[in-house]
Amino acid sequence: MYWQKEFECISVDELRTLQNERLQKTVAHVYENVKYERDKMKEIGIEAGDIKTYEDLYKLPLLTKQDLRETYPYGLFAVPNDKVVELHASSGTTGKQIVAGYTQKDIKIWGDCFARALTSLGATKDDYMHVSYGYGLFTGGFGAHYGAQQIGMTIIPVSTGNTQRQVNIIKDFGSTFICCTPSYALFIAETMKEMGVTKSDIKLKAGLFGAEPWTEEMRKEIEEKLCKAYDIYGLTEIIGPGVSFECMEQTGMHINEDHFLVETIDPDTGKVLPEGEQGELVFTCITKEAFPLLRYRTRDIGILKREKCSCGRTLVKMLKPMGRSDDMLIIRGVNVFPSQIESVLLNLGNTNPHYQIIVDRVNNTDTLDVNVEISTEIFSDVVSSLEDQEKKISSQIFSILGISAKIHLVEPKTIPRSEGKAVRVIDKRKLH
Ligand code: ADP
Ligand code: ZN
Repeated sequence: MYWQKEFECISVDELRTLQNERLQKTVAHVYENVKYERDKMKEIGIEAGDIKTYEDLYKLPLLTKQDLRETYPYGLFAVPNDKVVELHASSGTTGKQIVAGYTQKDIKIWGDCFARALTSLGATKDDYMHVSYGYGLFTGGFGAHYGAQQIGMTIIPVSTGNTQRQVNIIKDFGSTFICCTPSYALFIAETMKEMGVTKSDIKLKAGLFGAEPWTEEMRKEIEEKLCKAYDIYGLTEIIGPGVSFECMEQTGMHINEDHFLVETIDPDTGKVLPEGEQGELVFTCITKEAFPLLRYRTRDIGILKREKCSCGRTLVKMLKPMGRSDDMLIIRGVNVFPSQIESVLLNLGNTNPHYQIIVDRVNNTDTLDVNVEISTEIFSDVVSSLEDQEKKISSQIFSILGISAKIHLVEPKTIPRSEGKAVRVIDKRKLH
């Protein structure tokens, strides 16, 4: 099912024409109304009229989080305050928060983007939408809400917290769709089990999980314990969740390209890479009014795939981002993403997808410790068997990632649970 078939299944030629038209308009709008960006463009000798098509994009300067910080809070807004109807802020995972503004039209676009995700999974106005993303400045809750509202679903705006109550609501109210972070989805599943609620007691058909990186192994866990699990991606700077979404094929997320142009660049040189090569995702908003960022560097590392999808959508797909370039750990010179460690842990079985990575520097050498919960079923007091398992995990990490790690198997429920984004890494090197 489609929400806006004319855009979701548009031919590539028509898409390019539409994108070029919208790009020209947005660049002109930004040039006229955002002094900061106009100055940046003038500095390198270009003006709005130089950007006519998608192929001209590379001429525009790249924007980074630093630019957003320098113009905090409203320096990149392109409309006066009387047009701004809502503000959101990034969750501040990596430093000072940034502020994004929306006009009435921007909110409508956001809702449409999220509604496409829901509709592609079969959601209709007969469904109950359980929103366990936080409501507030964080974009998760409201993004999901606006999408469901456009469809006319029955929204249950639970927000985060009180997980037992969440389980009761899922059961009693008959929630059929759910949205939250993948780590929180697992926490809900775990709580369900403790309460003696089984999958057959609930009506959940599918969940849209995003806001943090997660692996295929984690998807398997969620699908076994809770419901079908689909990925949804977004960031506050661009619009919030709904920049891209997974269809039932589960092989990548379709980017809403009629609203957001995407490029991949080499994170070190800033050079544009050919479609299909792994690189940093860069987005350009081409329909937004209040906060239309041009060529914003996400720091998310991704791969684009333009191919025929069984769902009929022509929109380009991005593969699950492994993590952000600034999440990447360099341990004794080896580059590692936390999600790669997660993958190894979950592939081995016997452990829960609850883990924490602790990096430190002792005597000028990086140390890597991983605390990982072992499942209740096999938790044993026999120290030797635990040690054996720790060694096994450690050697698996070594053989796959090429780094040695000290594994500590810990009792179930000893690693703090998060209701929003999970805290996977504690890098003590940065704290010293
Ligand atoms: P913050 O930057 O403070 O975390 P946001 O809430 O806007 O604020 O988070 C956006 C970021 O979350 C993205 O840039 C990306 O790194 C991550 N993210 C969002 N959705 C996904 C997803 N489905 N998979 C992996 N990472 C995601
Ligand atoms: Zn598809």
